[in-house]
Amino acid sequence: MARIVMKFGGTSMAGTERIRRVAGIVKRQQEAGHEVAVVVSAMAGETDRLVNFSREAHALYDPAEYDVVVASGEQVTSGLLAMTLQAMGCKARSWLGWQLPIITDDAHAKARIQTIESEALLASMAAGEIAVIPGFQGVTEDGRITTLGRGGSDTSAVAVAAGIKADRCDIYTDVDGVYTTDPRIVAKARKLKNVTYEEMLELASVGSKVLQTRCVALAMKEGVRVQVLSSFIDEHAPAADTLPGTMIVSDEELARIQEDLQMERQLITGIAADKNEAKVILTAVPDRPGAVASIFTPLAEANINVDVIIQNVGREDTDTDVTFTVPQADLDRTVAVLEANKGTIGYAKMTTDSKVAKVSVVGVGMRSHAGVAATMFKSLASRGINIQAISTSEIKVSVVIDADEVELAVRLLHTAYGLDG
Ligand code: ADP
Ligand code: ASP
Ligand code: MG
Repeated sequence: MARIVMKFGGTSMAGTERIRRVAGIVKRQQEAGHEVAVVVSAMAGETDRLVNFSREAHALYDPAEYDVVVASGEQVTSGLLAMTLQAMGCKARSWLGWQLPIITDDAHAKARIQTIESEALLASMAAGEIAVIPGFQGVTEDGRITTLGRGGSDTSAVAVAAGIKADRCDIYTDVDGVYTTDPRIVAKARKLKNVTYEEMLELASVGSKVLQTRCVALAMKEGVRVQVLSSFIDEHAPAADTLPGTMIVSDEELARIQEDLQMERQLITGIAADKNEAKVILTAVPDRPGAVASIFTPLAEANINVDVIIQNVGREDTDTDVTFTVPQADLDRTVAVLEANKGTIGYAKMTTDSKVAKVSVVGVGMRSHAGVAATMFKSLASRGINIQAISTSEIKVSVVIDADEVELAVRLLHTAYGLDG
């Protein structure tokens, strides 16, 4: 007998019919003799709808009230799945974030899980009851509802898996695994049988939304076995243990697998795009120590994550331009913070552009190979795609380009690095 956490995303939960299919998959997992906890997302599109209501109510909404609104989508699907399982003759109950509880910090709209109380959950699972847990939501020490950031149900699932020491966390979604790039953009994308935690972490952080970044970081830290697989399977599909999804593995495990199969490691594992970035340019910022700190300190205090940063060479040693990107969802707040701090920063003009995207290539092979970035720049130049900003890490190169060119760029790079299937 194994203890398994099964997570179902928004497309898998969109409507009664699909929830019934999910319930069937869950029931079969339990009938195979396992203890099962299920983590669910809101129905596809529902969280977007709730986010829009919040924006309509107040352009600079209170994040604590936003959480009360957007957490409701998962409350609906967890109750519906529990009912559907009951209708199929299973014992099942929902456990809302505040009921377990899943305690988080108070960074509303992007809260971090601190602890999960698992005793009652384990007792109910041991008694044969299927636990259905709404993803994405938690509660602060003082009882206010929180959410974990978009895509956060993945993180809820891994946190529950770590909390109940599950043998595996299966993430069921609308694709049958992790691909070399988004298979909905590039038809030639190939499915990866295995991907390392480190590569998955980097891919997720640069826009492969198949898994939320924090979910991968948590799985890596807690050693949770994570598998990505499709929920769009029929009743006769083999058990999850033998389904051909993607397994997230350690570096050593991957090296062993590849040695057994006498496979060579690919230089590049995958390519990701992120259209949810916005660019901010501050012109004529005084070129003196502390100038950059005066920009980024108030942004950090407002909990806004700045991504790519470039500071131009100073003009006549008196001032300089600073360009950076922030999540598009935080652009209005970024502008408000920078306007409020204009006096201390001392810039002349602020311009913003939300029609930008970031394209990144990721692969641990980069550590030992030169020329990865050069190939990227050459391929983009060959089709006249202009690079607005660049950032790199040990296993990643990212560029910021015009949002209209992102799909072409991903396709070009997929071919250039020999990833086409
Ligand atoms: P869920 O609602 O199940 O959480 P998401 O929409 O969050 O599903 O994530 C699944 C989607 O991620 C896929 O439909 C696919 O378009 C996208 N995606 C982006 N990059 C990749 C990738 N490298 N491999 C697989 N899917 C990817
Ligand atoms: N429903 C939330 C979202 O759309 C969380 C999730 O699905 O993972 O972001
Ligand atoms: Mg998701």
